[in-house]
Amino acid sequence: MNIHEYQAKELMREYGIPVPNGKVIYDAKDAEAVCWSIDTDIAVVKAQIHAGGRGKAGGVKIAESIDEVKKYAEELLGKRLVTHQTGEEGREVRAILIEEGCDIQKEYYIGFVLDRDKSGVTLIASEEGGTEIEEIALKNPDKIYKESIDYILGLTEFQARRICFNINIPLEIINEAVKFMMDAYRLFIENDCVLVEINPLVVTKEKDLVALDAKINFDENGLFRNEKIFKYRDLNEEDEKEIEASKHGLSYISLDGNIGCMVNGAGLAMATMDIIKFYGGEPANFLDVGGSATEENVKNAFKIILSDEKVKGIFVNIFGGIMKCDVIAKGIVKAAKELELKVPVVIRLEGTNVDLGIEIIKKSNLNIFAAKDMNEGARKILELIK
Ligand code: GDP
Ligand code: MN
Repeated sequence: MNIHEYQAKELMREYGIPVPNGKVIYDAKDAEAVCWSIDTDIAVVKAQIHAGGRGKAGGVKIAESIDEVKKYAEELLGKRLVTHQTGEEGREVRAILIEEGCDIQKEYYIGFVLDRDKSGVTLIASEEGGTEIEEIALKNPDKIYKESIDYILGLTEFQARRICFNINIPLEIINEAVKFMMDAYRLFIENDCVLVEINPLVVTKEKDLVALDAKINFDENGLFRNEKIFKYRDLNEEDEKEIEASKHGLSYISLDGNIGCMVNGAGLAMATMDIIKFYGGEPANFLDVGGSATEENVKNAFKIILSDEKVKGIFVNIFGGIMKCDVIAKGIVKAAKELELKVPVVIRLEGTNVDLGIEIIKKSNLNIFAAKDMNEGARKILELIK
């Protein structure tokens, strides 16, 4: 789960991490009051959306007067901001953060990520901050330093210090920078994060260390034990279909293609997407209806898939283990009738009572084609949507 910059900074403040003074507003008429309350000559007005690249896209403005703050607040609120991370449809700005400005001497990059290869957390740092890490990796790979953090020991001070030397943090603030990294690591671990990224971390002309931007991602599987973080969830930033699916206990991720996929089991869902791609098609979604694939599940899944206008056909690929194939077939036929399915459906069933299941599909007289294996199924749905 992703949260907004202002929320990330609120959390960081609780961990003693230095962030600029600021307040979030949802209505431009509150801009002036915030300016007075943060008492600053230069303010920064920042669009709050779940995407980076705002700076280059005009979502971060430096204002030198209250009138300018008001002007930028009015411009940004309600606007659809398009950054290279949002896709061309952009994201509506519903909140903006107004912060005190600071005099930047140098920008650094600090990130903690869950590193699957190392089975642990890796600290990544660079003195080329302000630029995205992917870009630094391309242009200046030798300017990126990493520390693998031992799960038991946690981040050690010598590792944080080594990073400071590698990225040339000014000597007089190394202790502060070490504390910064230790605190950020504690935040990461205590809140089940998968990413804590501070880009840029800046050293100001007055030699203060400040986190100017913050991006935090949480592992959704840990949210049940962290109610406070869960409250940060912003449904406006999430795909409607994904929210609907999560209400029904379905794992759904929407994609850009036109073949809807209904599958049970994450592994089979991945394999199904692969085979569609293999034959030159594009899946419209990843969807795991869960191991027990009940009639109700199947119906909800169809509804969600069909709410995506791009979908031209559906490939159902279900393994009847716990739930027998004939029960699944009945569920699919019933759902297809109730929903008056208009797009072609190819279904590949395998498992217990598969023959009974296929018989039910064939007798239904619906626009449903039974495939005997995944290859045939993938080819058939592609042919049908042509
Ligand atoms: P992002 O583009 O979405 O990652 O947004 P950031 O919060 O990282 O802001 C982009 C850039 O705006 C930063 O790298 C800074 O160069 C600049 N910026 C942000 N806050 C301030 C500030 O207080 N003072 C100055 N001078 N520049 C700032
Ligand atoms: Mn940034």
